[in-house]
Amino acid sequence: MAMLKILQYPNPKLKRRGKKVAKIDDNIRKIIADMFETLYNSENCAALAACQLDLADPPHITVIDLSPDKTQPMCLVNGEIIAREGEMHEEEGCMSVPASTFEKVKRSHKIKVRALDQEGKPQEFEAEGYLAKCVQHELDHLDGRIFLDRLSSLKRKLVDKRITKWYRQHD
Ligand code: ZN
Repeated sequence: MAMLKILQYPNPKLKRRGKKVAKIDDNIRKIIADMFETLYNSENCAALAACQLDLADPPHITVIDLSPDKTQPMCLVNGEIIAREGEMHEEEGCMSVPASTFEKVKRSHKIKVRALDQEGKPQEFEAEGYLAKCVQHELDHLDGRIFLDRLSSLKRKLVDKRITKWYRQHD
């Protein structure tokens, strides 16, 4: 297993889309193992999508572990949201966005998710609150989108300015 580099905004590679996985083969299994390795060895990391990692051709995979003691790994392959309900407006941050950027983003409060697990077995589950927010955030990454893309243009400009300044101070 190996740690993967987490791409940092505004790296244009963050706009790539995840490639649908046709078969769970050794290559995909290795990527999933490396993603969990990276998740568990990065501070304050609850979830990662393949598109935010420095992979040549990122597959449509996200790994999540929201448990405080990191004992509940979840892997979504080809994940999609098949139903939505309600609305929430909660703060989000991202391993790919520097400068301790946290902003409120509008999301569905409750979702129904369809995906394959890491063995390729179909799964369907409902999620709400934190897990729902997390799944929507990660599936956005696999669509080439980050949470900043969901801010108003005014807010986005302010955040971009703050991040540019942060990079200048941390070079
Ligand atoms: Zn993120």
